Amino acid sequence: MAILVVGGAGYIGSHTVYALVERGEDVVIVDNLQTGFPQLIHPNARFYEGDLRDKAFLESVFEKEPIEGVIHFAANSLVGVSMKEPLEYFDNNVYGTLVLLETMKKFNVKHIVFSSTAATYGEPKRIPIEESDATEPTNPYGETKLTMEKMMKWCDQAYGMKYVALRYFNACGAHPNGKIGELHDPETHLIPLILQVPLNKRPHICVFGNDYPTKDGTCIRDYIHVCDLADAHIRALEYLKAHNQSETINLGNGEGYSVLEIIEAAKKATGQPIEVKIEPRRPGDPAKLVANTQKVRDVLGWTPRYTDVEEIIRTAWNFYTRQV
Ligand code: UDP
Repeated sequence: MAILVVGGAGYIGSHTVYALVERGEDVVIVDNLQTGFPQLIHPNARFYEGDLRDKAFLESVFEKEPIEGVIHFAANSLVGVSMKEPLEYFDNNVYGTLVLLETMKKFNVKHIVFSSTAATYGEPKRIPIEESDATEPTNPYGETKLTMEKMMKWCDQAYGMKYVALRYFNACGAHPNGKIGELHDPETHLIPLILQVPLNKRPHICVFGNDYPTKDGTCIRDYIHVCDLADAHIRALEYLKAHNQSETINLGNGEGYSVLEIIEAAKKATGQPIEVKIEPRRPGDPAKLVANTQKVRDVLGWTPRYTDVEEIIRTAWNFYTRQV
């Protein structure tokens, strides 16, 4: 039997594929390479290039492959773009998931692990955020992910299809093997942008706002290593097999770091100076996002291997310095 990883050529998907293959699983990847990269595809996985929204294509993959479970990463994920092009996000994210769920129903595949996000909460009412807290997304990206979660909830009720939705906080770092890591084009995420400074790809890092109500005025986020994320997906699949029960679970380290603290950690990790420029706030950024991680520890028995941000950044640095 095989695990289908939709979006397995992307940043988090590729790390999950590596973890599955390292465990000896048979892995099938579907990716349209819209934001994925061929060099992130594991050589031992069977790769089908195509779009989730192409029903005939997706059905042909389910016909050929003995799929027993799905991990779904294939979605657009940039908050800023989603504000400008909400319909693109509803089309790719919501419609793509609709076709995937229809195909799973047709081929009687009952388990799906879903890549959700802390953006489903919107501006949090309290920190750390618990899964039962209100979900009021402040951008179309978060809204589409929440809609995808709700589609799965109703598919569970109607068809007995079980899901684990993992609401990620800030994924970062790279596989310690140095072969795969965080690649985006354009890059918008903090840690890869900071590391572009010592890589001589940009003169400085722009800090978006230093007037937030936080200890140093910059935004606080919960940074979680991508291999710890990958591990949680595998545990979620095992949980579905053992308990056949749906869950929605936060996935973070439970510790908050400010933008300036991350820059300081990057200076230490790289041993290089990093010039900083303070810029205005970026629209849509909440001041503070930190996960309550009790549920992932209790339900999936997960604990993070990487809790030190300097070590996390070193894994990313290791990857980028091998690319040049
Ligand atoms: N950020 C920044 N400069 C950048 C990119 C990001 O100051 O060039 C800040 C951003 O405002 C946020 C934090 O870094 O507070 C993390 O941003 P990222 O885009 O990595 O993830 P997000 O939290 O938006 O998912």
